[in-house]
Amino acid sequence: MTERIVVLGGGTGGTLIANRLRRRYSDQHVMITVVDQDDRHVYQPGLLFVPFGLLEPDEIVKPRHEQLHDGIVFRQSGVDSVQITENTVYLTDRTALAYDLLIVATGAQLLPDETEGMTGPGWMEKVFTFYSPEGAAALHDALAQFEGGRLVVNVVDMPIKCPVAPLEFAFLADWFFQQRGIRERVEIAYVTPLDGAFTKPAASAALGGLLAEKDIDLITEFNAGEIDGSAGRLISFDGRDVGFDLLVTVPVHGGADFVARSPGLGDELSFIPTDPRTLQSEAAPNIFVLGDAANVPISKAGSVTHFEGEVLEENVARFLDGQPLDGTYDGHANCFIETGFHKALLIDFNYDTEPLPGRFPGSLGPMPLLKESRLNHLGKLMFQSLYWHALLPGRDLPGITSQMSMAGKRRPGEEE
Ligand SMILES: Cc1cc2nc3c(=O)[nH]c(=O)nc-3n(C[C@H](O)[C@H](O)[C@H](O)COP(=O)(O)OP(=O)(O)OC[C@H]3O[C@@H](n4cnc5c(N)ncnc54)[C@H](O)[C@@H]3O)c2cc1C
Repeated sequence: MTERIVVLGGGTGGTLIANRLRRRYSDQHVMITVVDQDDRHVYQPGLLFVPFGLLEPDEIVKPRHEQLHDGIVFRQSGVDSVQITENTVYLTDRTALAYDLLIVATGAQLLPDETEGMTGPGWMEKVFTFYSPEGAAALHDALAQFEGGRLVVNVVDMPIKCPVAPLEFAFLADWFFQQRGIRERVEIAYVTPLDGAFTKPAASAALGGLLAEKDIDLITEFNAGEIDGSAGRLISFDGRDVGFDLLVTVPVHGGADFVARSPGLGDELSFIPTDPRTLQSEAAPNIFVLGDAANVPISKAGSVTHFEGEVLEENVARFLDGQPLDGTYDGHANCFIETGFHKALLIDFNYDTEPLPGRFPGSLGPMPLLKESRLNHLGKLMFQSLYWHALLPGRDLPGITSQMSMAGKRRPGEEE
């Protein structure tokens, strides 16, 4: 009997899990179909560099279907809905796909219209987001022409993809204007709904310290409710007001739109309630969730998606064999944080352990944790090549496992 595995979304998660499963099931008893609405795979961490002219928009895009191993069927279509009781996905091209096992990897989408005024006057003129390829390219021109004034970087609400990316943007803006020789004419403010620079205490303190060092104002607990692009005002729900000449916003995120049309699948934000350790959905035992689409309590990040993929591959095999699931995904996440001037920080954490100082990977590892270094910056740059050539094809990265290791990390109070 042939098992039909349908993967919704051919981004980071959908591609790597389809490739892992194709390798595992090289015979034809498992048929793998990947559905995506377009054929442009964007390396999203590269969007950070486009506004500063450090990467060209077309350097971070490749055809999706070319990232999938032979034997995987690629269907280019939108997903209209999932009907759980019928084990069927309905596509916007009016066809239906029946599945035995479904993997939802449709990520998170930007919802700029959720914030009053965001896409009104000034949108793409002095209000931009670098979270989309078009926004990042338009921001490149705006930054090149900016001659001084107040640049505000704002996160409207959590959760967002890569919660450190807006901080990286602020650090790089400081570097960029220094390079252009106009830093003293530019005021930079970082405006966040959180009570500090980041969610976890040690990382928040380290990143808050860096903002202060770079003379970037930190405005916290600011819940943006309205943007007045003509007047250059960002207004919070409690009536606070931040003026700007250029606003770099990270809009509200939600799950994919078909989730709301799929009875029983998602929550009120269209993310999918998911067991955080096995990645099985709460909606049905034969539906699993990978990456940003899941509501698991950890950052929405490519590294998370990659580590989840290792456990998910195992659980797909166990599910098809009728075995109990592996519950070992621990929320492992890691992220390079670009800080400008060819340096970066590295953080490594999971559901239970906040980012700690130390070394990575292991106590003899070359990369310092929670501390700036050139090697971390090189790691960040090298990651693009690893992404296309190791992570997406579904290879394991040497020395880095889906479970977080405490080796090399120092708990508060421990000596260096
Ligand atoms: C600016 C920026 C910087 C980032 N930097 C980092 C970083 O440094 N490190 C890191 O680890 N992560 C980073 N990330 C996050 C990382 O890119 C994502 O977490 C990761 O891509 C999630 O993978 P995914 O498969 O869940 O979603 P995606 O890769 O976004 O894929 C989702 C796919 O689903 C498809 N889809 C959605 N809805 C439908 C539909 N209705 N029908 C058909 N197809 C649909 C989309 O077209 C897309 O291809 C960054 C993200 C951004 C935006």
